[in-house]
Amino acid sequence: MTVNPFSSELPEDYDKTMKEFGISPITPALRKRLPDHHFIRRGIIFGHRDLDKILDARDKKKPFAIMTGIKPSGVYHLGNKLVIDQLVYFQNMGAKVYFAVADVETYHVSGQSLEESEKTAVDNVADLLALGLKEDNYYYRQSTELDVLLLGHLYSKNVTYNMLKAIYGEHPMGHYDAALIQVGDILYPQMKKFGGPKPVIVPVGLDQDPHMRLTRDIAAKQGLIPPSSTYNKMMRSLSGNAKMSKSEPKGIITLNDDEKSARKKIMSCLTGGRATIEEQKKLGGQPEICVNYEMFMYLFEPSDAKLKERFDACKKGALLCGQCKGECADRLVAFLKDHQEKKKKMLPKAKKILGL
Ligand code: SF4
Repeated sequence: MTVNPFSSELPEDYDKTMKEFGISPITPALRKRLPDHHFIRRGIIFGHRDLDKILDARDKKKPFAIMTGIKPSGVYHLGNKLVIDQLVYFQNMGAKVYFAVADVETYHVSGQSLEESEKTAVDNVADLLALGLKEDNYYYRQSTELDVLLLGHLYSKNVTYNMLKAIYGEHPMGHYDAALIQVGDILYPQMKKFGGPKPVIVPVGLDQDPHMRLTRDIAAKQGLIPPSSTYNKMMRSLSGNAKMSKSEPKGIITLNDDEKSARKKIMSCLTGGRATIEEQKKLGGQPEICVNYEMFMYLFEPSDAKLKERFDACKKGALLCGQCKGECADRLVAFLKDHQEKKKKMLPKAKKILGL
């Protein structure tokens, strides 16, 4: 079985993939050691590798880090926010954040030029700052961070074509090249210039696990600490057919959307509503398959009790989709307005951070 990290498909079976690749669930004992967050309470972060090593470092007041990269292939959307919120969560726990603008991967996978990525990167980094990441974290572009490119290149001596094929399946060479640069990204915080080996956690969706397996294998051979990881459920696109991704532009809500567009998108998303109002009142809705409900669960309903009330009202047919989507749209618009105000102020800082 292989998982394709270069596509926007949703994993078919979370449990099977976890078992097959040795990903551990978040146990009640581990949950007690984690700061409270709805991502943990609601099982949005559902699995991990070596998360306990991160918590041990925190408890012993030793340095630890969180690392991720996002492709600058477009304006960030709500699915990206889910990852960024996790960076903020670990930052607030004491982690230093390392962030790669994955422009080389974007070139290989999406065919976007480095110049084009440069423009998007400024907008993206302004989002990171507006969402709560500190300016003194370490942000870089893959294409200009020569040490990362060199690491990916040097570590390739531990990798054979058969190994890549077994982990990723058959892909163009550029995808494998991007995967090796990601190995460089993930192990970068353990370099001497950043204080040497330390526990590093990488928040990923299950589809990105191949990168973790490859990197852990190489880290062990290089005398570095194999990186830890958390696994989060992925937000679905508005159509509910795939993960929210820039490859389905009509299925995303971006952090730059204006009120009109955001409302329109919410009103057209997949719900678990019935064909007619009468039927819904009689049979109740299906929040389990509803993208609108997912928005509340992932992002826009901080209270577990109120989320449950919404679920129950939907099941009983006491809540109808028009009203429910309107309420979601109100919260989304309030978030976007506030975020865009903050982001405007962060654009000059983002330029400076990226040296542009
Ligand atoms: S009432 Fe709300 S939660 Fe229920 S199916 Fe409709 S939109 Fe989804």
